[in-house]
Amino acid sequence: MGYESVNPFNGKSLKTFETLTDKDLEAKLTIAAACFQTWRHKTYAERAVIVAKAAVLMHEQVETLAHTMTLEMGKRINEARGEVEFSSNILAYYAKNAETFLAPDELHPTIGEAHMECSPIGVIFGVEPWNFPYYQLARVAGPHLMAGNVLVVKHAACVPQCAIAFEKLWTDAGAPPGLYTNLLISHEQSDRVIDDPRIKGVALTGSVAAGRSIAARAGQNLKPSSMELGGSDAFIVLDDADLEHTMKWAVWGRMYNGGQTCCAAKRFIVVESVADAFLSKFKVALGALKAGDPLDEKTTLGPLSSESALVQLLEQVDVALAHGATLVMGGGRVDRAGSYMQPTILTDVAPENPAFRDEFFGPVAMFFRVKDEDAAIALANDSDFGLGGSVFTKDIARGRRVASRVETGMMFINNISWSDAELPFGGIKDSGYGRELGDMGIQEFVNKKLVRYAALEAPV
Ligand code: NAP
Repeated sequence: MGYESVNPFNGKSLKTFETLTDKDLEAKLTIAAACFQTWRHKTYAERAVIVAKAAVLMHEQVETLAHTMTLEMGKRINEARGEVEFSSNILAYYAKNAETFLAPDELHPTIGEAHMECSPIGVIFGVEPWNFPYYQLARVAGPHLMAGNVLVVKHAACVPQCAIAFEKLWTDAGAPPGLYTNLLISHEQSDRVIDDPRIKGVALTGSVAAGRSIAARAGQNLKPSSMELGGSDAFIVLDDADLEHTMKWAVWGRMYNGGQTCCAAKRFIVVESVADAFLSKFKVALGALKAGDPLDEKTTLGPLSSESALVQLLEQVDVALAHGATLVMGGGRVDRAGSYMQPTILTDVAPENPAFRDEFFGPVAMFFRVKDEDAAIALANDSDFGLGGSVFTKDIARGRRVASRVETGMMFINNISWSDAELPFGGIKDSGYGRELGDMGIQEFVNKKLVRYAALEAPV
């Protein structure tokens, strides 16, 4: 397996990269482990100088970084710029807040005094996906580097140029050698990295299949791991929803990043009384999107990340149809060069249909018509995933009640699953475990140590 950058707008190969030799991998791990021995003793203020500088560099280089991303995985250029700025904000957020988040916590035992304190644990191995090539990296780099850990990261095989550009930010920010290391490695080498005693934790964002493999490996080694996996978020529309407002979020929620977002709205669950109106507006809105060059700011439908992603999605749609789903619109590739998928809506997806439990990682929406609020919640919960979800209603108290009953890691009222630097992000069930971002994201790979003082005599 090699690393190759291919432009999905036209299928042209941009650059290929050799995977690391075992010798080079060993050298990089040695440098990372040595770096930890000094980085762990730096003050938060000293670490913040480097992390904040990387944030500034990201912001300054927004155009080139965004351009690389658009060429490499087809993200529309406006969204690409937004992702770079957001990634910069995440780094700046942890540079500013890490010390507060990890400050010692006084406890109140009945005898004596006690506190919890946090210390870094070592070299953390990140495995990251292509769909947000910088944001996913910033989500691990900001918190874990500020906590005093160091990072080695395997990025997805199709975004090597983004991976290398992100690594370079750290060198340019004055980071010591080994603080952040990009590893162009195979899955088999990745297994050996997890086994390596110098690696003290594993953070994966990716598919359920990768989660099962990597979490198992980390488990065999008794290493802590965090798993940010797939999702099939419910988008619940209640009878009292403002349909115009709801429709804008429905389109954005399904189509943002070409539909290739873990927490995208994937299952549209609409109560009977507004179902027809919703579906006809949704068709019109999705039908208005125009395929074009993702570097052109006017383009409203970009390509998928790769030809193989498109082929896989087309196959999933075929399977859904073969098992009785009805095609409302789309279902095929766009008739042009490049890896473009037509915006697609499926209905009549029965529980026996494999599609019912699948994640469609692209512009394919499943539409369900339900009797009422209770039926909407029951259907939302009938999923192996549990990442995010949303509910649309004019009655916010009702929205909160529904949100509490949906079994996911995140719920959003009158908007869709999205992240902010200060809000913990993550799921339950097959969507994984652990949290990234917010104050919880920095707690995943630290030693929380109890220290107690009590003037006690030992029992005889
Ligand atoms: P993927 O195939 O699982 O790949 C993700 C990363 O894992 C890539 O770096 C990949 O490397 C690596 N990988 C996969 N299997 C591996 C193995 N056995 N050993 C070592 N590394 C392995 O997922 P994807 O298709 O790129 O990304 C889409 C998935 O990620 C979707 O399911 C999406 O929902 C999920 N996701 C979740 C979140 C979240 O926060 N919950 C965020 C974004 C995406 P290669 O590229 O070399 O195979």
